[in-house]
Amino acid sequence: MKDYYAILGVSREATQEEIKKAYRRLALQHHPDRHPGDKEAEERFKEINEAYAVLSDPEKRAQYDRGLLGTPEYSAQDLFDLFAQVFGFQTGRTAPRGEDLEAQVEVELQDLLTGKEAELTYTRLVPCEACQGQGGKRVACPTCGGRGMVETYRQGLFGAFVSRSTCPHCKGQGHLLAEACPTCRGRGRVPREERVRVRIPPGMDENHLLRVPGYGNLGPGGPGDLYVRLSLRPHPHLERQGVDLIYRLRIGLAQAALGARVEIPGLSGPIPLDLPPGTGHGEVFELPGEGLPHPGGHGRGALRVVVELSVPKKLSPKAKELLRAYAAEVGEEVAPEGFWERVKGFFRK
Ligand SMILES: [Zn+2]
Ligand SMILES: [Zn+2]
Repeated sequence: MKDYYAILGVSREATQEEIKKAYRRLALQHHPDRHPGDKEAEERFKEINEAYAVLSDPEKRAQYDRGLLGTPEYSAQDLFDLFAQVFGFQTGRTAPRGEDLEAQVEVELQDLLTGKEAELTYTRLVPCEACQGQGGKRVACPTCGGRGMVETYRQGLFGAFVSRSTCPHCKGQGHLLAEACPTCRGRGRVPREERVRVRIPPGMDENHLLRVPGYGNLGPGGPGDLYVRLSLRPHPHLERQGVDLIYRLRIGLAQAALGARVEIPGLSGPIPLDLPPGTGHGEVFELPGEGLPHPGGHGRGALRVVVELSVPKKLSPKAKELLRAYAAEVGEEVAPEGFWERVKGFFRK
């Protein structure tokens, strides 16, 4: 049987305080982070933790003193948990961080040109003031005696060993609620409306999430983060496509055939565009540098003008006459005058 007193360098009469002090000094000295790759130091660190696990627990110490305790075997995770507990580090098991949250901020396309400071309102969980986040009156868990861990003695090949696991009764919290707080109904947290100012960077992508550290739900291990999603208000003329913008330009028959000077409503103001004669439906004109800024980079994307040929549904008698003359001139065969009116009249009968 290992001599746990010798391992910690304390007498058999040592007080809990002396044992803890010796453990702290030795555990720091032999921590594997200080001796990378040193197997001997690692073994020594394990022994020190094992010794402390037994001697720091009065019940187990008494059993050990009477020679009734077999060699306990702790997993590496248990030993590091013990170390973290003594040195007051937050471990995931004992003090969970608050949950991350997601919120949406609505901006105009225009705002993405220069970026924008936006304020948003959202709800997060914060500790209940009525019970100071305790959830109500607490009592120590009778199953684990407030330690949050339970130990099971098992018979292994080389003698009895101890396995430690999270207490199933209190789920590792070490306490139970005797009386739930009426304000938070025992949850320990209440929803609170919060306001936060965020800086929307120029050209921010809608699929990108903006992280605001520390603005998530508050948990015992600290707050989670807030992730802000962008929502673009629809623009009357322009559509977004990454860093590019799309404008659908409707032109008439004569403009398409003869060419025209048109004005494109760009994000930074109107842009003149010369359409050459013979511009077809679906043709695209690219205006470089008139799109959105590249996020975090230099320059801007392009504004793409997509031509849509607009064919008139109603024509004046004069316009009809001119189009017939045009058709005759270029040899295009068209429906004879009054043909469609007669067809429609036939179906109406
Ligand atoms: Zn418990
Ligand atoms: Zn409460």
